[in-house]
Amino acid sequence: MISAKFGKRDYIFTILIVICIITFALVMLIPDKTDEAELTSKNDNIKVSGNANVKFVCTFEKCNHILNVENVSFEGMTEKDILEKYPDGRIYKFSEDEIRISRHINDYCPKHYVLKADNNKLIVSRFNQDTLEKEYIMELDAETLELDSNINDINRGDMEFDSLVAINEYIEGIEN
Ligand SMILES: [Zn+2]
Repeated sequence: MISAKFGKRDYIFTILIVICIITFALVMLIPDKTDEAELTSKNDNIKVSGNANVKFVCTFEKCNHILNVENVSFEGMTEKDILEKYPDGRIYKFSEDEIRISRHINDYCPKHYVLKADNNKLIVSRFNQDTLEKEYIMELDAETLELDSNINDINRGDMEFDSLVAINEYIEGIEN
């Protein structure tokens, strides 16, 4: 009885659904493979020459300052190498003799010292303009400081100062 209900129409309908599923799976899979292939073959054999014209611009989002990076060499690197080193980088131009790259960094630029509270310590850090990494500068013992009213500001990690002297003045202000 059951097999009788499963008529020719149902059979064709089932086959159509299976074909649809297979087509959908293929459509989903094929572009992925193509993208990957494009990415790995993208200028893979082009390497930056030693005297390439480099323009490397970093925008620091917390202070809106722009830094033209001059001390970084891309010599011998492929486009893929550069993107591996700077995953947040955008390459506008890539050839053996010319590189145009920009980065948006969610931090303060190297002009600022940043003060952050960590338990009973105050950590001072700054973005290093040569390594383009956040650099630890010094640690201050804050145990004796009355941080209660200021700790929230410091904890946000976004207290920035022009100099270590300015940080010192700020801390002396808390102490008094
Ligand atoms: Zn800045």
